[in-house]
Amino acid sequence: MGVEDSRSFYGIDHYGFPRAGADDPVDPEGYYPPYFRSEHFQRYGYHVEELRGGFHWVTSAGYDAAFVVTEQGVVVIDAPPTLGENMLAAIEDVTDQPVTHVIYSHWHTDHIGAASVFGPDVEIVAHRITKELLERFPDPKRPVPTTTFDDELVLEVGGEILQLSYKGENHCPGNIFVYAPRQKVLTAVDIVSPGSVTFMHCDASQNISGWYEAQSQILAYDFDFFVGGHHMHYGTYEQVKLCVEYFADVLEGATAAVERFSRSDALADIVADTGWDRMFVGTENWINSMANHTTRHVLEKKTSDGRLWWERLAGATTQTKYHAYTVLESIRLERPRPDYRLRGENPPVFLT
Ligand SMILES: [Zn+2]
Repeated sequence: MGVEDSRSFYGIDHYGFPRAGADDPVDPEGYYPPYFRSEHFQRYGYHVEELRGGFHWVTSAGYDAAFVVTEQGVVVIDAPPTLGENMLAAIEDVTDQPVTHVIYSHWHTDHIGAASVFGPDVEIVAHRITKELLERFPDPKRPVPTTTFDDELVLEVGGEILQLSYKGENHCPGNIFVYAPRQKVLTAVDIVSPGSVTFMHCDASQNISGWYEAQSQILAYDFDFFVGGHHMHYGTYEQVKLCVEYFADVLEGATAAVERFSRSDALADIVADTGWDRMFVGTENWINSMANHTTRHVLEKKTSDGRLWWERLAGATTQTKYHAYTVLESIRLERPRPDYRLRGENPPVFLT
């Protein structure tokens, strides 16, 4: 065995997940916007842009956040640690007004873990559940909210209006929608990421049925600009719709995969392959069969303009298998299942 062979046999590549590599396509043209290659961004690591009427988008490319400049102070939405003090720099680039309010989209530290940068005197607005989670798991970088709400809250500061809304669990408990009606900007974080298929496992979401429902709830808003928390881009309505189309294909593939591989003949085939005394090998093969079936469905399907997903959204060839796994598991746990067993039927598969 040569050195390279032994590395691959004994090294980490022998275990767990495959590595992506040169066979994966480059990201679609336009995924990296002009600001990404600008001198300012390369030097300072952030980009700030006015979307409309004082509503600003600020990004570190991997993470984004927003702020609204009003005549009576600045209202901030989220403060990711990857932006950190650059949130202050971005605000100072465009106004002398002080930050008076900070809205938390949800409690996750990767989106609000720099909130303490605004000091102790700001009003912090969030959902009641976000406050409960931050009291239960304290973090000095994420001060506890001072104002909370259950269903709806209208925040009016210096003549600007932000409509905060909670529609139930999605990405995590307490994740809210923030809508600026005058500017027609919607902020909803960790649901879809315009320009890409978003981060693996449905952006590490908890309630996948709620997360799918949130996609429809986003499209019910009348917005021209969408701030999603990630990645490189804010979005237009059409760009958000494209992400929703992609995840509909994941759901379609996963539904078919669960139906096909939950049949007793499919289970019997898998057990016959591995032996009934290696239960977890069979389990892995069963789950992976469904994930692979789903992934192939998505990556081979022609999208609405005839192209394939990797030609339209960044990350399709690397992230789809993880979305597939998460969505098929959510079907098995959260949705009606096809494998209901009748009395006297379907003997244990190792006896068939
Ligand atoms: Zn999150």
